[in-house]
Amino acid sequence: MTSLNLDVKKLLKIAYEEALIGFNEGGVPVGAALLDSQGNLLGKGRNRRVQDDDPSVHGETAAFKNAGRQTCYTDKILVTTLAPCWYCSGLIRQFRIGTVIVGESQNFEGHLDWLREAGVEVIELNDVGCKVLMAKFIQQNPDIWNEDIGECGNHTHA
Ligand SMILES: [Zn+2]
Repeated sequence: MTSLNLDVKKLLKIAYEEALIGFNEGGVPVGAALLDSQGNLLGKGRNRRVQDDDPSVHGETAAFKNAGRQTCYTDKILVTTLAPCWYCSGLIRQFRIGTVIVGESQNFEGHLDWLREAGVEVIELNDVGCKVLMAKFIQQNPDIWNEDIGECGNHTHA
């Protein structure tokens, strides 16, 4: 299935721990990490919409920023607890991140085919822990969730 000779569950755990910290802070529990091709951590982060009052900080963008400058991304791995939104999918395509590991795509299906069409290797893990954490947040904070995915009630853009 995957060309990665890495323990993807172990990589997901880095992102999940970020998501859990976010959840405990009252934030949107999406965590992510950017890794090199050997699975070494370059940067990690979590959605900070609530914590920093900053809608531009998604888990993926935080990990990307915290990893600092990289000369090339085609050999990098982005692991995220939830399927990336358009904003983060755009980042993946803009910088040609080679591999994306997705914790789950049930609470938010994202745009995984759009990534695959661009040649990104997408690995879906269908992880129960990620699903449960996200579902719990959405149930408890439907308004914050809708805000995070850009659903203001006047339109839909799944
Ligand atoms: Zn995003």
